[in-house]
Amino acid sequence: MKPPVIDLRSDTVTKPTPEMRAAMAAAEVGDDVYLDDPTVNRLQDRAAEIFGKEAALFVPSGTMGNQIAIRVHTEPGQEVITEDSAHIYEFEMAAMAAISGVLARPIPAPDGILDWESIRKAIRPKIYYRAQTGLIGLENTHNMAGGTFYTKQQIEDICNHAHDAGLPVHMDGARIFNAAVALKENVANLVCSCDSVMFCLSKGLSAPVGSMLVGSRQFIERARSIRKLLGGGMRQVGVLAAAGLIALEIMPARLDEDHQNAKLLAELLNESPQLDVKPEKVRTNILMVGFARTLLDSTQMTGRLREMGVLVSALDSVRMRLVTHNDVNREQICQAADAIKSVIAQKNA
Ligand SMILES: *Cc1c(COP(=O)(O)O)cnc(C)c1O
Repeated sequence: MKPPVIDLRSDTVTKPTPEMRAAMAAAEVGDDVYLDDPTVNRLQDRAAEIFGKEAALFVPSGTMGNQIAIRVHTEPGQEVITEDSAHIYEFEMAAMAAISGVLARPIPAPDGILDWESIRKAIRPKIYYRAQTGLIGLENTHNMAGGTFYTKQQIEDICNHAHDAGLPVHMDGARIFNAAVALKENVANLVCSCDSVMFCLSKGLSAPVGSMLVGSRQFIERARSIRKLLGGGMRQVGVLAAAGLIALEIMPARLDEDHQNAKLLAELLNESPQLDVKPEKVRTNILMVGFARTLLDSTQMTGRLREMGVLVSALDSVRMRLVTHNDVNREQICQAADAIKSVIAQKNA
């Protein structure tokens, strides 16, 4: 029998757990556009409660959640301050321009983590002939910076100053539970100063589909209307919310295992002098690996690993991203490290 593929491309590849499958089959449903789906309503109530916000909304994807938030918080012609490699800027199809008529104002930050000083400099002066800043977007954990995170103090400092300046703050918290677990912080505490938060049920939490928006009741009411505008009003979607409830209630408790596996993988790969890995920077479930010194290009690296049953994401010609999750165990982490080392050894031979 062929051994199972070790898929480290993303935590989005996680399959629903047997408990999720059972809950999906048994889910009580109704028409959610009529607000009649009891399972969706329960998921939204629990998400609001767990995040310490007034209300929550189930959305089909993280991208839609972020874009709804941008649309609700801004007016056409405004700017959104983001970090340079933020998902809302780099990987969402310029949707903020297409959907909300706003421009991104990206600013670079070490490890993807912004501070108030750099944000303050990017805020437009209040002059009638200048575009106005409408929103600040923070990403926690930061995907392209390798799963780095903001602490509660860092978030609060930015939010307090932003609010003094009359600006809302949206948290792209696709992996906010990874941040909370790594910080040993309650998730509601971590985001209490943010005006809105998006988080994904479909990544490390292993639900098949879906993300959540949380915020004030007024924000969520407007968000529901924008969701419909974008075609995101779903009907008997309790079958997905049932999996989402398990993702939300049960799965955060096991994320530390993914973090330990990412650390282990970083340490194993760091044994190879031809790889650039910084194990001390790996705090959550994402690991960036530079392979310039192997003299393999990204097609060779990903192709040879694929032949050995290991899937990784090439970021550019000399870097790959490895993400640990519920469908990869410690033994498979060791196998993946061996596979990468053997690809390098073959090249050297
Ligand atoms: C994955 C991700 C999203 C978008 O989620 P999708 O469900 O894939 O649309 C948004 N932000 C960050 C940081 C992500 O990693």
